[in-house]
Amino acid sequence: LVVLKNVNKHFGALHVLQDIDLTIARGEVVVVIGPSGSGKSTLCRAINRLEGIDSGSISLDGKPLPAEGKELARLRADVGMVFQSFNLFAHKTVLENVTLGQIKVRKKSKAEAEEKARALLDRVGVATQADKYPAQLSGGQQQRVAIARALAMEPKVMLFDEPTSALDPEMINEVLEVMQQLARDGMTMVVVTHEMGFARSAANRVVFMADGQIVEQATPDKFFTAPRSDRAKDFLSKIL
Ligand code: ATP
Ligand code: MG
Repeated sequence: LVVLKNVNKHFGALHVLQDIDLTIARGEVVVVIGPSGSGKSTLCRAINRLEGIDSGSISLDGKPLPAEGKELARLRADVGMVFQSFNLFAHKTVLENVTLGQIKVRKKSKAEAEEKARALLDRVGVATQADKYPAQLSGGQQQRVAIARALAMEPKVMLFDEPTSALDPEMINEVLEVMQQLARDGMTMVVVTHEMGFARSAANRVVFMADGQIVEQATPDKFFTAPRSDRAKDFLSKIL
């Protein structure tokens, strides 16, 4: 569904993505882990072209992602993204946050968008918060709204960049549970996270990045019990 071929990206002298080859199948859940600065966020941002690339290609559902223009906007709408900071529209209610893209991008009627929004808010467990503003919600609730907002666009793939890193510990699980459910429902997902429990239970594959390269990829079972590379062994010894 998502295919990266020989992707390279530099920030000045820094070669932040080096010859990245990565194929994500429909329904697959790929967890990306690795040390700080290894290029995980840049990889996510490259997949929906929030970040341009210097060479290589990225395609979504068989269509190459163009560098700009209408076609890019269309393809990008198929990629849902959830960030560490919840990025909700502060001056819009929860319900409006989840209807806006449906109306503007997917050209749905307000009634249709609201019906879908309420169903999604219910699915992520915040149906009763629909008329509140983001600042009136806990971090965990806000992040679940952010997930609902992304899902409202009916994306083909969802990218999560450390969705629980900014949350207080007691709110992490409520967000991970929503993500687990999404994975069980068959959503194609790329998840950058330090939550190894989630990686073990939800991932089909773990991709380990270091210094802009994919150093190793394996099933979580294999990766956590028998990492092959020294970089991965070293990384795991520090976090487990
Ligand atoms: P973390 O775990 O800390 O989130 P990461 O693996 O997500 O790290 P990236 O955010 O992708 O890492 O950054 C990779 C490298 O690129 C880092 O050295 C970072 O400083 C650098 N970098 C990221 N964005 C930019 C930018 N816009 N301009 C210049 N350098 C950047
Ligand atoms: Mg990052």
